[in-house]
Amino acid sequence: MPRIAPLSIAVIGGGLGGLTAAVALHQAGFDVHVYEQAPELTEVGGGINMGPNAARVLYRLGLGEALDREAVRPLSTHQQRWQDGRTLQRAPLNPRCEELYGAPHLTVHRADLLAIIASGFVAERVHLGHRLVGLDGKGDRVAASFENGERITADILVGADGINSTVRAVLLGEEAPRFAGCVAYRGLVPTERLAGLDLEIGSQSWVGPGGHFVHYFVARGRLLNFVGWTEHDTWNREDWTDRATIERALVAFDGWHPQIRRIITAADTCFIWALFDREPLERWSVGHITLLGDACHPMYPFMGQGAAQAIEDGATLAACLVAGDLAAGLRRYEELRRPRVTRLQEMSRANKIRFHLPDGPAQEARDAEWARAGDRSPEALRWLFEFDATVVPGR
Ligand SMILES: Cc1cc2nc3c(=O)[nH]c(=O)nc-3n(C[C@H](O)[C@H](O)[C@H](O)COP(=O)(O)OP(=O)(O)OC[C@H]3O[C@@H](n4cnc5c(N)ncnc54)[C@H](O)[C@@H]3O)c2cc1C
Repeated sequence: MPRIAPLSIAVIGGGLGGLTAAVALHQAGFDVHVYEQAPELTEVGGGINMGPNAARVLYRLGLGEALDREAVRPLSTHQQRWQDGRTLQRAPLNPRCEELYGAPHLTVHRADLLAIIASGFVAERVHLGHRLVGLDGKGDRVAASFENGERITADILVGADGINSTVRAVLLGEEAPRFAGCVAYRGLVPTERLAGLDLEIGSQSWVGPGGHFVHYFVARGRLLNFVGWTEHDTWNREDWTDRATIERALVAFDGWHPQIRRIITAADTCFIWALFDREPLERWSVGHITLLGDACHPMYPFMGQGAAQAIEDGATLAACLVAGDLAAGLRRYEELRRPRVTRLQEMSRANKIRFHLPDGPAQEARDAEWARAGDRSPEALRWLFEFDATVVPGR
């Protein structure tokens, strides 16, 4: 008998990846529900650098108008030396990305981005306060249970529940993520406080020994987002919480360029974010359960692609499942996604070393290489930016 009702899909996690998947799957005609542990849809205060590969997906999902309103289109990407501001590489981003790849490069506040993606989904299908605690994937239906006592079943379950994914732990075994030896001081500064600095409308980063500092505008240009990374051997949340102060951030970037110190000083407060990592996985799916985003491929943010890849995952998953055969669709999803995200995980790891080289011969060789052939321009990142995650090759 042909199936009449659409396949039901439960997405666990209402972050950037889970909600994008929900919008894409819903638009593809599936019966989708999202289960999020938090009492409301929230994102940490901070920014996202979003390449045209992810922007393209969101425009295709019909979210372009809101993105055009809330996001900023950086004109350039600019890497500089930590202490004297010497340019290491610089390239135009907009409108170049649109000319080359048909989608812009955006910088956007995380909360704005989450709200924009959520606006493309049906609010009644987002179940807040639902923390997944149990999962049974034997048989044709997946059963899930939540801390609040609710139980559901679905044809497919998608674990989009982040780096500490419960779905992943049930599917592939418990394994704690590893501290990556890096913490970030993050903050947002009202733009009017930075008058006189003459900041570029661009994505600017400064690289130096054992750290790097990134800043760009978000929230229609009203706020400057900054993230300053420094290396440390150990992480202990309790010890570190009280270090999230402007004074500490200034100590961490002592001796760095005055522009960096002006930006940090202009913030009211700053936050600490520790970086964690996992090894790439051999598989993402078991039976009718699969994973996406940080749940299966957390990556250092040093290619600016973690959320972008989570967004791509959702689009590809929908495109693969729409063909009809569930098992083949999940297989194809993994085949298409795993090589690409593994490459980015590796490149992001390599950038942690390259960005943080101590001053000396290796740093000089890196700087010479960047001057000769910059690796941040839209042209250099063609393989990354022109990729269309909504297309399943061969179909
Ligand atoms: C400092 C920093 C800067 C970054 N900058 C960039 C950038 O510029 N560009 C970029 O593309 N990426 C960036 N990233 C990476 C990006 O933030 C992540 O890759 C992205 O947020 C992952 O999205 P996700 O939806 O997979 O997971 P998450 O955003 O972690 O969402 C998971 C969701 O699942 C929910 N959840 C968890 N457990 C359960 C459960 N048991 N039951 C129900 N719900 C659950 C959580 O509450 C959460 O809402 C950055 C990361 C960091 C740390």
